[in-house]
Amino acid sequence: MTVPFLDLKAQYVSIRDEIHEALTRVMDNTAFAGGPAVAGFEKEFASFCGCEFAVGVGSGTEALWLSLLALEIGSGDEVITVPNSFIATAEAISFTGARPVFVDVDEQTYNMNPDLLEAVITKKTKAIIPVHLFGHTADMDAILAIAKKKGLYVVEDAAQAHGAQYKGQPAGSLGIAGCFSFYPGKNLGAYGEAGAVVTNDASLAEKIQMLRDHGQKKKHEHAWIGWNSRMDGFQGAILSVKLKYLSEWNEARRRCARRYNELLENSSIVTPTEADYARHVYHIYAICTRNRDNLKNSLAQKGVHCGIHYPIPIHLQPAYAFLGYKKGSFPVTEKCVQELLSLPMYPELSAEQIETVTTAILAEVHN
Ligand SMILES: *Cc1c(COP(=O)(O)O)cnc(C)c1O
Repeated sequence: MTVPFLDLKAQYVSIRDEIHEALTRVMDNTAFAGGPAVAGFEKEFASFCGCEFAVGVGSGTEALWLSLLALEIGSGDEVITVPNSFIATAEAISFTGARPVFVDVDEQTYNMNPDLLEAVITKKTKAIIPVHLFGHTADMDAILAIAKKKGLYVVEDAAQAHGAQYKGQPAGSLGIAGCFSFYPGKNLGAYGEAGAVVTNDASLAEKIQMLRDHGQKKKHEHAWIGWNSRMDGFQGAILSVKLKYLSEWNEARRRCARRYNELLENSSIVTPTEADYARHVYHIYAICTRNRDNLKNSLAQKGVHCGIHYPIPIHLQPAYAFLGYKKGSFPVTEKCVQELLSLPMYPELSAEQIETVTTAILAEVHN
């Protein structure tokens, strides 16, 4: 039996008719850029996140970027985030003109280590972007307390954390803004590119609504220099259909994770932590092992396809060489980069597939 890393088809097949009906409605309305399907989804997604507002945009990267722009972050400013993330978190900072500043992550949760924050805060710091990596929320109380003390914004990168919780609160609802990606492979995925910002701040929501539409509130009157970052009508319609199933799908991911944990329990493999404060939604189920690259190759030979998130940390990417970080700057992140292996994970993963994966892993580890 082969086990793919991700299987988007299995999910599509399960909701095929509903999706086709939703797409037909968009075509009948000919509302392709923004429009009622997007507005409907925004309302539902805001409510799902326990927030007053959601603003649909073109991607998760743009959700982050437009949030920072709306907070008037730009040239001369610094924004703190983690090097153990997808590069988009740092790119969004860079595209405002601000400078990304990194802090290392916690060894257990792989998320921002709040103990390291104060040492990198300067007069130029404007905001902190914790990333709820893999679907596990960052240690938000500690981060929010430091931000409050220093007068900084907290913008959550919740691109991997749709439906995750911190002490019972939805990911995305804890900072001034929560940024989501609906890239197809995410826990809530569009059939193309899309993203959203959620917030309880009415003026921030309004500003992001303007920025995504060329800075206009009234047609042809441009208060700000904005951008074209509207969500497609098709994506709004698809996301509305899929949002109804998200909690069920996240539960299925949690069941798969529990099964992996059980089957790998008595081995040298380190399985993911779920902190007391978190409800993990396992966008990624990453194990930690010294022999990662060999293991990945042997598994692939047996038809078990794994991923690496992320093979190169942001501070060592050529694009960010100018920041002046070196190998050794962030030891925990650099260990993650060497040792984390992402196992197949999606709601439709079967019990047999999970056993195929763990049997293959255990055979290698015991060799
Ligand atoms: C996917 C992702 C993004 C970017 O989202 P896009 O929709 O691909 O632009 C940002 N941050 C993290 C942590 C992500 O995983």
